[in-house]
Amino acid sequence: MNAVLFILIFILGTVFGSFYNCLAMRLEREEDFIKGRSHCMSCGHELSALDLIPVLSYVFSGGKCRYCKEKVSVRYPLTEVLFGLLTLGVFIKDLYLPAHAAGTDILSYLFVYPDFNPWILVIRFLRDFILVGMLFTLSVVDIETYIIPDGLIITALIAWIVSAFFLCDGIKDAGLHLLAGLVGGAFMLILSGIMDRVLKKESLGGGDVKLIALLGLYLGFFGLYELLLFSSLIGIAVAVITKSRKIPFGPSIAAGAYLVLLVGDVIRDAYLSLF
Ligand SMILES: [Zn+2]
Repeated sequence: MNAVLFILIFILGTVFGSFYNCLAMRLEREEDFIKGRSHCMSCGHELSALDLIPVLSYVFSGGKCRYCKEKVSVRYPLTEVLFGLLTLGVFIKDLYLPAHAAGTDILSYLFVYPDFNPWILVIRFLRDFILVGMLFTLSVVDIETYIIPDGLIITALIAWIVSAFFLCDGIKDAGLHLLAGLVGGAFMLILSGIMDRVLKKESLGGGDVKLIALLGLYLGFFGLYELLLFSSLIGIAVAVITKSRKIPFGPSIAAGAYLVLLVGDVIRDAYLSLF
């Protein structure tokens, strides 16, 4: 039962991965992403439904366009599989584990437990799913263009505001998250000012500042602290491995945020139990 559910969620994730990859490519080219159907990047042939099945279309066509036989970028199946896995992680964290902890499966948990409102968990899952989609898309765009599109940050911001009515524990809790966002943004602004002076070139982009502010809002103060720690470590690792002097920081922030989303509370509890 669980295996079937996990596979279905993974497939759902690959479909969204395909959509976000397409959205990212159109943002990179500043194309209108509402209009225009998908087409082959080499011959321009319009793609049919058969060409748009995540992962499988790529595998069965041998990685070539069915019309012009030109090679199709491996970026398509990679982003699809990756987003399938990311979606599965959020699903397990937000829905599967809470139900499991209550000793039941997800469907019974949602429909049979009337004393508690488990739909809060669904709202949290949808919110995190949107956030991860935006983080994924902006990472792909940042890698290609060194730009983080405002529209993606604003979409995640709207998702937080709407869900806050259900998920925030009163005005004080919402206020603390808001403050964490402001502190995160201010910290990045000061940091980028200092780094620009030391390195004598532009270091962190304005997109990075907005992204950290957004994530402070989502993750709260301790989550923000974990995020800055994880993102810096990932960023340093990427710089060492790629030996590149100009790397976009967006993907490292996004990966750090994903880690905090999944295991941030476990690490926080372990840390606080030390005192
Ligand atoms: Zn083609």
